[in-house]
Amino acid sequence: MDDKSFSTALLQWFSANGRDLPWRRSYDPYQVWISEIMAQQTQMGRVVSYFERWMERFPDVATLAAAGEEDVLKLWEGLGYYSRARNVLKASREICDRFKGVFPSDPGDVLSLPGIGEYTLGAIASIAFNQPFVCVDANVKRVFARVLDLDLPFNDPKLHNRIRKAAESRLPEGRSREFNQALMELGQLVCMKKPACDMCPVQPFCLSLERGVVDKRPVLAPPREIVKVQVATGVLLHQGRVLIQKRRPGDVWPGLWEFPGGVIEEGETPEDAVVREYCEEVELNVRPVEKITVVRYSYTKFRVTLHCYLCECTAPEPVPVFHEAVEGCFVSPDGLERYAFPSGYRKLMAFMRNDLRYSYLGF
Ligand code: SF4
Repeated sequence: MDDKSFSTALLQWFSANGRDLPWRRSYDPYQVWISEIMAQQTQMGRVVSYFERWMERFPDVATLAAAGEEDVLKLWEGLGYYSRARNVLKASREICDRFKGVFPSDPGDVLSLPGIGEYTLGAIASIAFNQPFVCVDANVKRVFARVLDLDLPFNDPKLHNRIRKAAESRLPEGRSREFNQALMELGQLVCMKKPACDMCPVQPFCLSLERGVVDKRPVLAPPREIVKVQVATGVLLHQGRVLIQKRRPGDVWPGLWEFPGGVIEEGETPEDAVVREYCEEVELNVRPVEKITVVRYSYTKFRVTLHCYLCECTAPEPVPVFHEAVEGCFVSPDGLERYAFPSGYRKLMAFMRNDLRYSYLGF
């Protein structure tokens, strides 16, 4: 079984089973770029709806370049890893300045854009321009770790290099667009965590299947350390409006909005933490009047428990002074939709919209 037969079997499978994804209809470089950035860290099923909304609002590089960061973050809301959205915006402005608004095809130019590294270059160069590049994402790594029965840990750079070489040696001339997508699609649809080997087009080439060690490949990296964090936040309602603030550059989630709050200190109750955080962050004395809910969410290694309170202000005319934010404002609850929030706060707002106690207040 040679490399050419592997590629032929894979390409035949892809031609019959490849999904009809919106960016595959034209392979427009701008669309391929956006889809690739969105797909990093996100399931493909979720990417499609985000992609379609994005293309409706920003149909080309020039429209995106002219947009404000607030608009871009709002459309990215829910995809996480917001630095990707900020880099996409920066890159679109560079494309307008340096390449007259046309997405560059030269690999050196592509690599010079913000947010584009080795993997994304390979994906754009091959999928948009059919240039002879490979792209090794987690799906491709899983497929080849099994096909070649490689016992290196999943995050070992040596594994990455072995797999990149294996993909390069199988890259069929003039077919890199299909080949790379086929490999990634095989990892997403067939060679999944629990593989469907009976449906696999490269089964005859799979050493780990032949040796009965599929369940041991790839060799997983040791689990990442998990840090649990208790956080409290207050929804300050004053004369039918709520206080929100925008996170600073350099914070986690810069440019996103939140209700004031923070980490609960040792010996504090969540209510005490809300009162203290409001004093420190916005110089307001607040009173938590009821517990709304408890929300749980994760980011990177953190598992956050967010205790959420409805608050009122002890002063008749609260004037916040923002110490931990670039800006802030009181907005009506139904206006919160216009702002981009991290996932924990979106969960809180969704809870409030669905709870009669708060929906009648306009949430
Ligand atoms: Fe993956 Fe099974 Fe195919 Fe091997 S035969 S590549 S383990 S799906």
